[in-house]
Amino acid sequence: MPGIYKKSWDVFVVGGGPAGLATAIAARLHGLSVLVADGAILPIDKACGEGLMPDGVKALQALDISIPEHDFYPFGGIRFLSDGVVAEAAFPRGMAYGIRRTHLHSAMVEHAVACGVQTLWQVAVTGLHPEGVMVAGEPVRARWVVGADGTSSRVRGWANLDPPELRAGKNKKLRFAFRRHYQVAPWTDCMELHWGAECQVYVTPVSKQEVCVALISYDSKLRLEKALNEFPKLCSHLDKAEYTSTERGAITVTRRLSRVYRDRTALIGDASGGVDAITGEGLCLTFRQAALLGECLATGDLARYQSGHQALGRRPALMSHMMLFMAKHPRLRRRAMQVFEQNPAAFAGMLALHVGEGSARSHLSSGLAMGWQLLRA
Ligand SMILES: Cc1cc2nc3c(=O)[nH]c(=O)nc-3n(C[C@H](O)[C@H](O)[C@H](O)COP(=O)(O)OP(=O)(O)OC[C@H]3O[C@@H](n4cnc5c(N)ncnc54)[C@H](O)[C@@H]3O)c2cc1C
Repeated sequence: MPGIYKKSWDVFVVGGGPAGLATAIAARLHGLSVLVADGAILPIDKACGEGLMPDGVKALQALDISIPEHDFYPFGGIRFLSDGVVAEAAFPRGMAYGIRRTHLHSAMVEHAVACGVQTLWQVAVTGLHPEGVMVAGEPVRARWVVGADGTSSRVRGWANLDPPELRAGKNKKLRFAFRRHYQVAPWTDCMELHWGAECQVYVTPVSKQEVCVALISYDSKLRLEKALNEFPKLCSHLDKAEYTSTERGAITVTRRLSRVYRDRTALIGDASGGVDAITGEGLCLTFRQAALLGECLATGDLARYQSGHQALGRRPALMSHMMLFMAKHPRLRRRAMQVFEQNPAAFAGMLALHVGEGSARSHLSSGLAMGWQLLRA
């Protein structure tokens, strides 16, 4: 498509994952011309827990993206299971979607193309250029460049934005995740989070006959088969189920960049920092960033994107730190689980905060009540 290379674009998006596509769609909603390039083959799969929380569903709908009904499985709450104790709460409003990553990607690509976004697949971007980017050895002109190229973003380095601090091991930031699908009817309409001694396993129903099981730990060598031995109840559900996908791995990390733009280049999604996968909030955060970036590209105000990006990340980062604290401190987790079991309203309050519902006052009072109960437990 030589015309694509000759044209000068308003926005060039490096990476056609959820962040890149959402940004492209948001920019098109403001009338900008957009080209997206991704080095991968369609539809793009990725290790993911595949749960889109109700706030994420809302953020997706705000970009006018709808998912066909047969492509997702709605679920109504979250269940924590730890040391034989179970705590469960329904979302205060709306339903979450369990959705295969490939289905989400296909729906987003379809919508992007329908909006007039131009796309290049299996085409890697190799660098920035004073007038845009370098694609397959050729310069492509663009007023704005968006780095939506994931956790190991190269755009971040090309634009001289902060190198992220990535370290593995306990008390460090890097965690390792693996996911696999099982052919089994969901036994619950919740997403389940099973807390283990050295890992967490979460289960998302993604269709009437399939669940996605994701493992997260600080140990790069720990795989699902071994980790599941710690969860006999979960194993009994998966016992005779066939795998419907191969195990796929990824790293997950909570980190904040001090800057997410320089000159005409902005970062978004995992390239711009992120929250631990355990929160299930990565996609929601990405869609909200995209809506904001679309506006800021249209007005040419990336300083506003910087401050808005920071504000959007605060709540998910808080949840991420709280959940990692629970993961690292088993005694505290046991106490918290007792409180949640005895006082389901406390768990419902935490879930409301997690998905951005409820007032600051109600969160403060339930936080204080929870703190008091933890001290007494
Ligand atoms: C194990 C795990 C479980 C998760 N579970 C959930 C969950 O349940 N719910 C939730 O909301 N979030 C979850 N997340 C977070 C969510 O997956 C991410 O936040 C989301 O994928 C971010 O999308 P992205 O587009 O920024 O990055 P990516 O999906 O990584 O996309 C980046 C794209 O850039 C392309 N690319 C890279 N370099 C180049 C280049 N030079 N040229 C062209 N293309 C390039 C890649 O091919 C890729 O397609 C999870 C994450 C992990 C790791």
